[in-house]
Amino acid sequence: MPVILIFFIAHWYLTIFIHTFFLHRYAAHQHWTMSQPVERFFHFISWVITGSAYLSPFAYGVMHRIHHAYTDTEKDPHSPQYHGNIFNMMWQTRQTYFGIWKGTVPVDEKFKTGVPQWRAFEPFAHHYAVRISWIVLYILFYATFVTAPWQWLLLPATIVMSPLHGAIINWFSHRVGYVNYKLKNTSTNLMPVDFFFLGEVFHNNHHKAPARPNLGFRKFEFDPLWPIVLTLEKLRMIKINRVNSTPPVIDGPGYRSDTAAA
Ligand SMILES: [Zn+2]
Ligand SMILES: [Zn+2]
Repeated sequence: MPVILIFFIAHWYLTIFIHTFFLHRYAAHQHWTMSQPVERFFHFISWVITGSAYLSPFAYGVMHRIHHAYTDTEKDPHSPQYHGNIFNMMWQTRQTYFGIWKGTVPVDEKFKTGVPQWRAFEPFAHHYAVRISWIVLYILFYATFVTAPWQWLLLPATIVMSPLHGAIINWFSHRVGYVNYKLKNTSTNLMPVDFFFLGEVFHNNHHKAPARPNLGFRKFEFDPLWPIVLTLEKLRMIKINRVNSTPPVIDGPGYRSDTAAA
């Protein structure tokens, strides 16, 4: 297999690991706790892995809590209902994210409580010049290992990997798929088996019980991150907050179109 393809696949899965394990389930939802040195370790490797597309766990965590609080309303930072198309939605998401990062968007204190922050490191990792340096490194890496011209097509996705995952989940898991729970929002489980997003596709489950750390609720819904989380707990790196260990009774499975669940 070409080196570039191996790199791309590894980068895809490591980035989604950081996204779901560290940014989403830890920073935003605190599904587990960890000591400060362990938190700093994961924060540092989140920068190494996501590189040019590094996201501040604080700004991400706050923004994601706002998504849960105002899902599918005009205050939602990313709602397919309100933002028309995926590009406009991602632009709005970007504006909210940078507003939180720069402190120019007023945020209720309750959304900030307990969200990790590393004030000595984040401005460096977030810096424009550092992002450009990562992009230069990616180009050099591609220039060294590309064996066929089509492989260059993977470079843009490499540069924006984190927001790319966010765009796919935030758009499609509020548009297509099936629901286990009839909620007053458009969330769906994007697909019954998650090959690509380490459990993030079970988004309707997650909106029903946001405090539950295992996102697979039904027998066939395997959350690929969950065994990794259990292993990290066995290694005493994290401690899982085991709330809502029994999934809520499902309202009835049903495949749906892109209309809001009643
Ligand atoms: Zn959602
Ligand atoms: Zn969430």
